[in-house]
Amino acid sequence: MTPPTTPSWKLPAALAAALCTGAALGWLADGRLATGIAVVAVAEVVLLLTRIRHQARAMMAAPTAVSPLQHDRFMTRSRRIASSLRDLRNAAGQLPDAVVLLDRQQQIRWFNHAAENLLGLRRPDDRGASLQQRLAGSELAGWLRDGAREPLTDAAAPGRVDSQLNVSLLPFGDHEQLLLAHDISHLNRLEQVRRDFVANVSHELRTPLTVIHGYLELLDPEDVPELAPVLGEMRTQSKRMGQIVEDLLTLSRLETQHEVADERVPMAALLATVRKEAEALSQGRHRIVLESTAEADLLGSPKDLHSALSNLASNAVRYTPAGGSITIRWQRVPDGAVYSVTDTGFGIPASHLARLTERFYRVSSSRSRESGGTGLGLSIVKHVLNLHQAQLKIESAPGVGSTFSCHFGPARLLAPGGSDES
Ligand code: ADP
Repeated sequence: MTPPTTPSWKLPAALAAALCTGAALGWLADGRLATGIAVVAVAEVVLLLTRIRHQARAMMAAPTAVSPLQHDRFMTRSRRIASSLRDLRNAAGQLPDAVVLLDRQQQIRWFNHAAENLLGLRRPDDRGASLQQRLAGSELAGWLRDGAREPLTDAAAPGRVDSQLNVSLLPFGDHEQLLLAHDISHLNRLEQVRRDFVANVSHELRTPLTVIHGYLELLDPEDVPELAPVLGEMRTQSKRMGQIVEDLLTLSRLETQHEVADERVPMAALLATVRKEAEALSQGRHRIVLESTAEADLLGSPKDLHSALSNLASNAVRYTPAGGSITIRWQRVPDGAVYSVTDTGFGIPASHLARLTERFYRVSSSRSRESGGTGLGLSIVKHVLNLHQAQLKIESAPGVGSTFSCHFGPARLLAPGGSDES
């Protein structure tokens, strides 16, 4: 009687199921199916290779112990596995993302076609070569040398001019590693088109809006009392549109800027201005306190820092009911200095906190509009802080209040009016 054999569809089905799981995991992890498929596909290739090697080794070691029947079964399974292996290699080879399998010394064991195009690897010469040496001089080599702990974003592709990559290194198998590189040039180009479009539209709208606003200012409501409420509303709205256009233009400028002018920003004067502006906006409805103990100036763009720091203070005034208090602080911390604004206002539910710095994201649209908001303030704050290598932290509890803190590192601090410090 012939022993029962595994149905021929079982292995491909299991491999396909694993690929689907990989796709789902890739999607959940970073929104990319290809990453998960690539990881699982390469894992399967290695797994199958190991399986074949084990079985072959057993046969070689004791060829006489193997009966003709076992030999036939082994050969059938080997052929099936070899065919699945070929399919998987072809699939992994055709992935749009570059995949490089590295051994424990970071020497190249295998790579796909995309790795040739994007990383400039060549067959057969680069098999067995050190990836770091092979990519010497590129941003990727430095990243590998430093341990590649975090994924590398927006790196120049060593194999293709004008292409940018997101690269990650995943531990795999027995101290092996898998390098994945995803070409983001197309996304970058789309992002550039979006930025140009917003900047151009804003620029084009600026002049007509200025003209409309100018004419509205010329019209005296006392001359046409029946239209006075309409005129008032038109003025408010044209001013709001003007502010949105100005904020969009500021954002476009900040987005295309990679560094800021390193100028001294005298903090005593800036904090006094921020407090004065907050008081003017509050018109006596809030208690506004300034606590400045840091005794440090900042290094950066005076205009942009003024815009960011006063934005946080004006938000505190706008989102705190009359009678509340607002505290503006500038204080030292062990690794730098922190500017913060604490209010006793409406507060923000935790579910909104992560999205607050997105353009036009508002917790309550009506409250934002009523208080003259454009929905772009915190976006501008985030960009200004990024340009100064500073971080924004938001803590808030509904009904209790909020604290917005900007953390500046030592490299951005100067002794007031004196010598530099770091
Ligand atoms: P806006 O012009 O609408 O104020 P921002 O980008 O400055 O736009 O702020 C985004 C949203 O964050 C606001 O609409 C508001 O809902 C919320 N927010 C900002 N600051 C505070 C604050 N201090 N207290 C409560 N909510 C705030």
